[in-house]
Amino acid sequence: MKDHYDVVIIGGGIVGLTLACALGKSRLQVAVIEAHELSDIHSDDDYDLRVSAISRASQQVFENLQAWPGMKSRRISPYENMHVWDSTGDGVIDFDAADLGVDVLGHIIENRVIQLSLIEQVKKLSNVDWLCPLAVDDIHYSDTNSQVKLDNSIVIKASLLVGADGANSRVRQAAGIEIEAAPYDQKGVVCVVQSTKHHQFTAWQRFLPTGPLAFLPLGDGRCSIVWSATDEEADSLVALDEDSFCRELEQAFEYTLGKVEAVGSRAAFPLIRRHAETYIKPGLALIGDAAHTIHPLAGQGANLGILDAASLAQVLIEADLQRKSISSFATLRKFERWRRGENTLMMYSMSGFKNLFSNEQPELMVLRNFGLNLVNSIKPVKHKFVRHAMGLDGDLPEIAKTTGW
Ligand SMILES: Cc1cc2nc3c(=O)[nH]c(=O)nc-3n(C[C@H](O)[C@H](O)[C@H](O)COP(=O)(O)OP(=O)(O)OC[C@H]3O[C@@H](n4cnc5c(N)ncnc54)[C@H](O)[C@@H]3O)c2cc1C
Repeated sequence: MKDHYDVVIIGGGIVGLTLACALGKSRLQVAVIEAHELSDIHSDDDYDLRVSAISRASQQVFENLQAWPGMKSRRISPYENMHVWDSTGDGVIDFDAADLGVDVLGHIIENRVIQLSLIEQVKKLSNVDWLCPLAVDDIHYSDTNSQVKLDNSIVIKASLLVGADGANSRVRQAAGIEIEAAPYDQKGVVCVVQSTKHHQFTAWQRFLPTGPLAFLPLGDGRCSIVWSATDEEADSLVALDEDSFCRELEQAFEYTLGKVEAVGSRAAFPLIRRHAETYIKPGLALIGDAAHTIHPLAGQGANLGILDAASLAQVLIEADLQRKSISSFATLRKFERWRRGENTLMMYSMSGFKNLFSNEQPELMVLRNFGLNLVNSIKPVKHKFVRHAMGLDGDLPEIAKTTGW
């Protein structure tokens, strides 16, 4: 461990690790501080509750960082189709990889698998120090030389401090950056379920008036579910005994995958839209959940954070090659301008979807079902939607660009 680094990343979740790997080929001296050590996955371990639908753009980032083989060799679950429908009418929309000329639309991957594979790569990098398990106890932000006190009492200094420390970011607080927070008034209930029918490599989502219910395919034929429901409904779903939960779930899902036979442990996460008033200050940048959190209905939170990390790395590497300061406002402003627009668009689209589908006005219900069927029938419009969800539209960083699209 050094006492000074060019870049100190606080948080070794998916997003902080992606940034660390992406800086691996630079001349910058980098440290990543992570409080929790992860144990590796064994083939007989049950699936974790925290999984993410990883877009093609994020996959491309991981491939370029050589972390994809580590994910494939552990476990990933491809999905070839998406089927979305409204519980209040006949509105349906389907996306098919074959239609788009690709083999898969994306992959469902446990967050732990993503982290473990990125950590493997980070450990190979001579310019990156992986400081784990170590928690940050105190942060003294300064625009030129921030100080970070670790729980072993060691203090390290940083020219640039990066907050990748999640929704309750200490870095954000230390820099006095406010957030705009708006609860969705929903919790996401997550668990792994066994149904009588195979998932057919499809990501399923049914919009209920109380929130969307997603069944995401796992490698062993089971599904990871995310059931967004009002706070009270979510709490009571978690409290139900296993049999009653299975009955509620199969009904809410219209027996689309048959009966639900077994569920693993359940947890509920409060769903809150958060957006930091700024992602940067001189000598400081926020990425991933530290900068923004959104509704999981389109599975985009981690994907946005991965693109934040890849974009910030590109901006920093370019500045360093041009012998410019990596921590100046002018340099960091490029990152902020690049990512803020993209993230805002996704956040408002998710809020719009959530409000549209939880509205029970009869005229609106008719209109949205008509709209879903209309989009489903016009291929260019449908392709535009799916390209966006796959992270293939927008101003992508170089390492996220795929060929052949
Ligand atoms: C129910 C649900 C379903 C979701 N599904 C999807 C999906 O399908 N697709 C998708 O893209 N996204 C999804 N998301 C969002 C996704 O999980 C998050 O956006 C993503 O995990 C954020 O990653 P991160 O690295 O920014 O933050 P985190 O995962 O929160 O990581 C932060 C890291 O910082 C560390 N840390 C924090 N404080 C300190 C400290 N003081 N010292 C040291 N270390 C510290 C923590 O230990 C942690 O490892 C979902 C979210 C929810 C709630």
